[in-house]
Amino acid sequence: MINRARLVAEFLEMVRISSPSKREGRMAKRLAATLEEMGVSVEEDDAGRKVGGETGNLLARFPGTVPGAPPLLLCAHMDTVVPCETVTPRMSGDVVKTDGTTVLGGDDKAGIAAILEALRVLRDDAIPHGPIDVLFTICEEYGLLGAKHFDVGRLRARSGLVLDVDGVSELVTRGPAANKLDVVVHGLEAHAGVCPEQGISAIKVASEAIAAMRLGRLDAETTANLGLIEGGLATNIVPNRVRVRGETRSLSLEKLEAQSQHMRECFEHAAARHRATVAGREHTARVEARITRDYERLEVRDEAPIVRLMTRAAANLGKPFATRATGGGSDANVFGGRGLEIANLACGMREIHTVNEWVDVKDIVTTAELLVEAVRLNAG
Ligand SMILES: [Zn+2]
Repeated sequence: MINRARLVAEFLEMVRISSPSKREGRMAKRLAATLEEMGVSVEEDDAGRKVGGETGNLLARFPGTVPGAPPLLLCAHMDTVVPCETVTPRMSGDVVKTDGTTVLGGDDKAGIAAILEALRVLRDDAIPHGPIDVLFTICEEYGLLGAKHFDVGRLRARSGLVLDVDGVSELVTRGPAANKLDVVVHGLEAHAGVCPEQGISAIKVASEAIAAMRLGRLDAETTANLGLIEGGLATNIVPNRVRVRGETRSLSLEKLEAQSQHMRECFEHAAARHRATVAGREHTARVEARITRDYERLEVRDEAPIVRLMTRAAANLGKPFATRATGGGSDANVFGGRGLEIANLACGMREIHTVNEWVDVKDIVTTAELLVEAVRLNAG
């Protein structure tokens, strides 16, 4: 049975451990010690070195107690968004919030707490189970870098769950693919007061491009955003360089490609309209646009074994259950893109990425119960 007091104490302890992306060292030490106390060895990979962080991803392989039962992956991420320097959790009734100056970090420590509690219940209650791969990743909030640097060949499991989405008793089975856009607009430098006609303002070119661009929510499954802009040197210089970075996401790969091309073309068309002649030589604004796939689409069929497993687990417990789509990306997109059958189980986090973040402990308990039942059913 779920030990609510144990789960709450561990959750509160973990949210007090500050663990922004690349600085998950203390959190990793705490988790490695906990897993080792459960009798498994913990492997840290070299992802930390590759991303310049304090620790790599942690992998623990729990042996199964039922011969031939299929292995299952349980995954959550150790990092949180900022501000998270000194998290002071405040609990009233079943609800945990912060003092309003930081995030709570229930994203994703609610997921970690549910996994650890489920592992303890499996052991304490001697519930028969197959092999379990437990993976705690780094830098999910920093471009899914931990997952991207993890070698999925080290897993025994070919299917499983990432616990990293808001809500409870829900399974996210569809998520967008995402492209990153990195554009440099080249203009032509000139003195702004003496000879502006000999310059091409990269800021003006970029502005025209952006004004013509479809951004925000484009339809039910497609979004686009420009999030960073930098350029210019001084008010008295016609700026010769602006860099604009953004993204687009869609559940449809055709729409993703169409929107990516649209964003590129807005810059190219704007650049083509701007020219200047200096000493008899004609100059045109120029665009360097780089579009790269950030992560793949998450797409798990409703008939997939992992969905059927979670549906049955919820039914056995008398809990409501539904699958849904999300506009967000998670480690599940990366692992799904590498051939694992993996869905994202809601784990109780709420109002994430804000200082108003909160969890209801009952939701983490429900998530842990769902995990225990799913692992039990998975053993056949
Ligand atoms: Zn998360």
